[in-house]
Amino acid sequence: MALVILKRGRDKSIKRKHPWIFSGAIETVKDVKQNGEIVEIISSDGKLLALGSYCPHSQISVRILSFNPQEKVDRNFFRKRIEEAYLLRQTIINHKQTNAYRIINAEGDYLPGLVVDKYDNYLVCQFLSAGAEFWKKEIIEILKDIFNPKGIFERSDVEVRKKEGLEPVKGVLWGNEPPDLIEITENNMKFLVDIKQGHKTGFYLDQRDNRESINEFTKDKEVLNCFSYSGGFSVYALDAGAAKVINIDASSEALNLASKNISLNNFPIERFENIQGDVFEILRKFRDTNKTFDVIILDPPKFAESASQIIKASRGYKDINLLAMKLLNPGGVLFTFSCSGHITPELFSKIISDAAVDANRDVHIMKLLYQSTDHIISANFPEGLYLKGVICKIR
Ligand code: SAH
Repeated sequence: MALVILKRGRDKSIKRKHPWIFSGAIETVKDVKQNGEIVEIISSDGKLLALGSYCPHSQISVRILSFNPQEKVDRNFFRKRIEEAYLLRQTIINHKQTNAYRIINAEGDYLPGLVVDKYDNYLVCQFLSAGAEFWKKEIIEILKDIFNPKGIFERSDVEVRKKEGLEPVKGVLWGNEPPDLIEITENNMKFLVDIKQGHKTGFYLDQRDNRESINEFTKDKEVLNCFSYSGGFSVYALDAGAAKVINIDASSEALNLASKNISLNNFPIERFENIQGDVFEILRKFRDTNKTFDVIILDPPKFAESASQIIKASRGYKDINLLAMKLLNPGGVLFTFSCSGHITPELFSKIISDAAVDANRDVHIMKLLYQSTDHIISANFPEGLYLKGVICKIR
């Protein structure tokens, strides 16, 4: 078998069961023939430590599959891991009211680089690492066996694949081509999801639990949903009795879908409005015209793609949070999020605090929010936590 020998003293992360080995920790690589193939990981004093997938193109040279080097990594190994991941979802998803959720969350489920989301009878996969790509055929077979889906669709059309020496790809992997819009149920609400063209695998499943937490705050309220995408938070707000919801998004496709989703749940058109444009500009316009709201949601895209963008991203987060705080009526509620992994929860809280000072408002943090539980995080892989949010009361 191919092998990787570590430099002296560079086995610490393995002892802590962190699933990545960076190129700088490696002394020698032997007999690797294919991108993503299995390697034995050996310490500088010759001990066999773990098994992983090797990628010569990436800074993350090895993604560990098993810390038990005696374990055999084969089709059965993947079947067991996928079954374990699914079993966990049986306990955390209420299948009576939700049929769209994440079955496999990559490193979080000890399956590095592999994402599988379920949208009713269709599965959508992302093979994000060379190791995941290497086992693609077997993984598809296993998914077919366990889930018996109508079809399996691939959404590996993402730039990170290039870092692994892989081209972005998308298309049908098995079975039927999914319809352009799939109707799913989330907490008894209905949504149309565009798994072929939509963001991520089609829907922000990671916000499911947070969307639910909006219920208690929106009855009879005027709600502003910034960066609304297909109206996830808006449907929940209307369901909880919001008087009116305004969606803002830069994308007209997203807003069209938001309108469809609101109608699909039988809410009258008078109770919502779409504004297409830039949230930064529109919030300023509202400020200049003294427009106010009772509840504001800020769920922007990732502002920090890398550590070098943290400062610029922090300014962006502060800017929109400061504006939102100014637009809220006394007693108003702000739901604010950051999905940038590089912005830590501590830094995000600091940004909120800075925004509160500059907005000259008293802000209380009522609750901290994270990604939904199906986007599970391994305790040994803190990088898995990327989505964080805060519910703030503004006085
Ligand atoms: N809250 C949504 C997900 C938001 S994703 C949900 O629960 O489904 C972020 C959205 O922000 C995308 O739809 C994207 O089109 C939009 N967007 C990105 N930059 C923007 C900007 N400057 N102004 C308005 N919308 C923007």
